[in-house]
Amino acid sequence: MNTFQYIKGKLFCDQIPLDDLASEFGTPLYVYSAERLRENVTHVQAAYAKLNPLICYAVKANENLALLQIFNEKGLGFDVVSGGELHRARRAGANPNRIVFAGVGKTDAELILALQEKINKISVESADELYALDRLAGELNHRPSVLLRLNPDVAPDTHRHILTGNAESKFGISLDVAHELRKHDWKNLDLCGVHFHIGSQIPDPTSISATLDIVLGFLEACPPSWDTLDMGGGFPVGYENERVVNSFADFAKVAANRLARFPRPLNLIIEPGRSLIADTGALLLTVQASKETGAYQTVIVDGGMNTLLRPALYDAHHHVLPLQETNKDTYPTHLAGPVCESTDYLARDRQLPELSRNDKLAVMTTGAYGYSMASHYNARPLPAEVLVDGDSYQLIRRREKHEDLDGLDLHI
Ligand SMILES: *Cc1c(COP(=O)(O)O)cnc(C)c1O
Repeated sequence: MNTFQYIKGKLFCDQIPLDDLASEFGTPLYVYSAERLRENVTHVQAAYAKLNPLICYAVKANENLALLQIFNEKGLGFDVVSGGELHRARRAGANPNRIVFAGVGKTDAELILALQEKINKISVESADELYALDRLAGELNHRPSVLLRLNPDVAPDTHRHILTGNAESKFGISLDVAHELRKHDWKNLDLCGVHFHIGSQIPDPTSISATLDIVLGFLEACPPSWDTLDMGGGFPVGYENERVVNSFADFAKVAANRLARFPRPLNLIIEPGRSLIADTGALLLTVQASKETGAYQTVIVDGGMNTLLRPALYDAHHHVLPLQETNKDTYPTHLAGPVCESTDYLARDRQLPELSRNDKLAVMTTGAYGYSMASHYNARPLPAEVLVDGDSYQLIRRREKHEDLDGLDLHI
């Protein structure tokens, strides 16, 4: 069964009509399907079963605690990129032994937290960070297991704003520097492997294969105590109609083939984010106004780049569906938010029926990098989040109130 589909003219999430949720909780509202989330986890676990990796959900895709709890119950670990995400993963019940920490600008405070929590791996992204970690580990008397995040200098064919593995990218360590670092005598830490994450929405596994050649070449020069390979995330999601079915299986196959030729067995880690959560979510919005703008109907809704940043940030495409199905004529339509910025559009040049104030829409495939990128810009409170589980549902984050906006300011 499809997670989101029309039943008798109403758009449903599993067994719940979305307009019921919009009425009960108001809009903008993020809605997620627990069933789809569990299915996605089962898919990645099955595709990678033979390679037996530690699968770490990338928390930055969506950090809601209820969702993290489901991932935790399904046996996943967590990939975090900040002290805040490490804190959230722990709050969701994650075992520190299943947490890996990447990120290009870790502060001393974040490294200290990672050391105190004794997490599984710290992925270091610069020489400066590695020297700092060695010093802090000595001070705290905890010996961490450390991966070097390599910059393999490959460029998958994805949007330039989500590339992370080309030579000029700020992420990771160049091979030259990595070779120097591996030869250094570290007093307080164990270098035990390498990490790469070459970008998001990687369109096909060939760039993973090219990356593996480079990274495994490096690993072969390292002693056998370097026994861990973290292959990052980046599995693609079909926002439009891209063919990404079975991407987990395709990527796993490429990895298995390449790893079979490596001289020793490796402990593997993968870090899927988007691919586990994007298609579990929809963002419900209410039309505030509709106006004729040249050849277009411009529809203004109650959430924009403050609620869903991806279209304004990366020209991302999300399907837009009315909650009430109609067979009326459609018109070329722009969907715009309420924020005072001219880039505040959620969708451009779509075919939608005539819409008017109080009509409701769903922006689809918004489970990943939706809520986690939302902001208070224009002093708009953050929306609520609801989790649907079959024929039941619950609020998993309440809507912010105006008072929440000034809760932390200090009066002068
Ligand atoms: C963002 C990120 C991921 C997840 O990327 P997706 O495209 O969401 O799968 C994994 N690992 C690291 C280090 C990241 O920064």
